[in-house]
This record gives sequence, C-alpha cells and structure tokens, in this order.
Amino acid sequence: MTVFKFGGASVKDAAAFRNIFHILSGLDSSEKPLVVVSAMGKTTNALEKVFKEAYRNQDYSGTLQEIKDYHGGIVKELFPEEDHPVYAALQQQYSDLERLLKEVVSQDFDRQYDQIISRGELLSSQILHYYLCSQGYHNHWLDCRDYLRTDDTWREGRIDWAWTEQQISQHIPSILQEKPIITQGFIGATAQGETTTLGREGSDYSAAIFAYCLQAQSLTIWKDVPGLLNADPKLFQDTIRYEEIAYQEAIEMAYYGASVIHPKTVQPLAKKCIPLYVKSFLHPQEPGTVIWNCQHDRIAPSFILKQNQSLLSFHTKDFGFISEQHLSSIFQALSQHRLKINMMQNSAISFSTCVDTDDDRLEALKTHLADEFVILYNQPLHLFTIKNYDQPSLEKLTNGKEILLEQRSRNTFQFVCRPTEDFPH
Ligand code: ASP
Ligand code: MG
Repeated sequence: MTVFKFGGASVKDAAAFRNIFHILSGLDSSEKPLVVVSAMGKTTNALEKVFKEAYRNQDYSGTLQEIKDYHGGIVKELFPEEDHPVYAALQQQYSDLERLLKEVVSQDFDRQYDQIISRGELLSSQILHYYLCSQGYHNHWLDCRDYLRTDDTWREGRIDWAWTEQQISQHIPSILQEKPIITQGFIGATAQGETTTLGREGSDYSAAIFAYCLQAQSLTIWKDVPGLLNADPKLFQDTIRYEEIAYQEAIEMAYYGASVIHPKTVQPLAKKCIPLYVKSFLHPQEPGTVIWNCQHDRIAPSFILKQNQSLLSFHTKDFGFISEQHLSSIFQALSQHRLKINMMQNSAISFSTCVDTDDDRLEALKTHLADEFVILYNQPLHLFTIKNYDQPSLEKLTNGKEILLEQRSRNTFQFVCRPTEDFPH
C-alpha cells in the first residue's frame, strides 16, 4: 500500500486536476494508492475570512460568492456536461456551508472555526473523485472523519492513535484491494462526531497518519518544488535539493519552520521506517528527495525563515530576579493561551520569547499575567534559523540585519530581527 498527498497548489486550477490524473494513470495498474488531498489553492484562507466575517456579524456574502465562483469555474472546465452528478454534490456542499455560516454565534471561536474551515477539503476531494472517475480512473471517495479520530483540541486536534489505527487497519486495506481511495487531508472528528482540524498545513500529517496505520510501503508528498530544498526558493536564491536525508534531520527542519513539510509528519513515519518521498508534481519522473533511515555526513546548511513573529519580554514588576516560579507561571499561561515558543532566553530580570503572532491570544496572555509582569512586545519580526551553519552562511544571512535576539548551538544558529527589504523578495 502506498499513500500520496496532493497539496493546494496541485489542485489550484483545471490543469492541475488534469495533471493529477496524468500522474495517477501513469502508475502500474496494480498500485492503488490512498490519495490525501488539500483544499484547492488558497481556499482555506478564504474560508478563514468568511468565517471571521460571520463571527463578527459582518456581511460575508461577497467572500462566500468568491469561494463559489472559484470552485464553480474550475468544475465547469472539468465537467462540460451540465447534469454531471458533481454539480449536485457541489450544491450540497454549498448549502452545508451556508447553513453553518448562518449558525455562527460570537463565542466558541475555535470550535466553530473547525466546522467551517474543514469544508475546503470536502469540496476538493469530491471534485477530484468525480473528475478521476470521469476519466476512467475509478476510485472510492472516503470521508476521513469516519477514520481519523481526535480529541476536542479545536484547530489542532490530537489523534486518538489506538482508535484510529484500529479503524484504518481494519477497513481500508480491503477497499484498497478494489480501488484507489480519495480522501481529505487536514480534518478529523471527535468521538461525538464533531469535525476537527489538525492545524494549518496539516494535510501532510493526515497522509502520514494513514501511512502509519496502514503500514504503507511509502508516502509521497507531491509539491511544486523539485524535492526537499535547503531553503524556500520563493525567499532564497541558489537553493539546492537534498537527494536523501535522515528522519531526524527532516524532523528538525520542519520544527524550525521549513514549510515544505508539516512538523508532525515525519515522526509517525520514522517510527515504522516508512520512507517519505518529496517529489515535484510537474516533473513526476524526477527523483525528488527521500527522507528515510539513512546515514549521511553533515549536509549543506539549510536556511529557514519564520515570518510574522512577536518577541515578548516579561519583566518582574519589582525588579526582582526571574525565578523558577515566575517561569512556571509564564509557561503555564503560554500553554493555556496556546502560544508556541519558537525561541527563548532568560536574563536576570527579564525573560524573552519569540512566538507566532496571534493578536487575540497575545492580548489574552497579557491580561492573564498583568498582575505579575510588565510585558513588552515587538512585532512584526522575522526568525531565521540556519541548520548546519558555517561561518560564510552565517555571515551572509546576518549581514545588514538588526538582530534583537540570537542563539547558537553546535549545529544550529537562530536569530530574531526586524524585517528587511530583501525578505521576502
Ligand atoms: N488546507 C489546509 C491549509 O491550507 C491544510 C493543508 O493544506 O495542508 O492549511
Ligand atoms: Mg496547503
């Protein structure tokens, strides 16, 4: 069994759908993959927008119409027959979405977010299912919420591994014997059947969960880049592709923010030694990168940028030293308000940490700790990481930047700075 994952860029227009058919129909006929698909193009962002408008009681009809027009335009190109069943399926999806939007109330943001933001993958997977069938590539559409169970940590559902593995390994192999499967990335459901999401860009993780539970032979993530590169080519020039890389190395890169794979993806694969191929959907014959249980020497430095960071500094109100007690209440509050630490540093009377900017969560944190600390913050900032750095790479990247915080270990150099003209260029 093999698992494939196609991201938003690989279903962004009609030509992209045709390309997926081209890739799948080129496989050996005995290979019936389980295919995980993301929402089309930038649909998840558009759904976030429509949801926020509804939540704030604003007029969301314009944004909703844009989502419909975008999907409608592509479907029209792919299915010339007006009575094709895809149109009824689409109609059903739209009316579910409209009902959910009408029901939005101004509380319980994260829970309602999941109900609405998850619709993008339901739409894209149905369109892909019908399109492949129309081309003679018969496949089974699967609602992954019946297989992937999470707790109710909304927007970042935690997998119930025992239940999920049991459910997937019991039911899916027999379906795959008959037909390939098309299913959604990014979403799951609680035991009560409420939809959850796994965190933005979480479709890679979904694919890894399926691969793990199926003991798959491999997982292939199809991307718009030629493989795992040492930097994002949209941000950095002269990138190089790694041919192969060890699990550990890939886990660390994803952790520091390499956007090519979702950070949670590699762990489950490493546990069962399932190789992960990162390949270009535009050049499917090219080798891409394989992430697996290999040994290699020190590899070329990789450059990672996290944008939209906030640097917080906590000062005790009485100029007292930062004690373990203080740290404990800071960590407790960060965890409660779900702000993740990307970097941190302690000094005599202040503690600094760099987190992803989320204004609502930061406000809540400030209120929570207002009695104990004076909290200052600085944003928007960039957090750069160089893995396997050497002197030339370090000099090249820090040159001309105003550095607010830096840290280095034997292999990794990180710094927070103000955005400069050349990033992103
Ligand atoms: N569609 C979701 C997102 O854009 C999940 C994914 O693409 O992996 O975050
Ligand atoms: Mg995506």
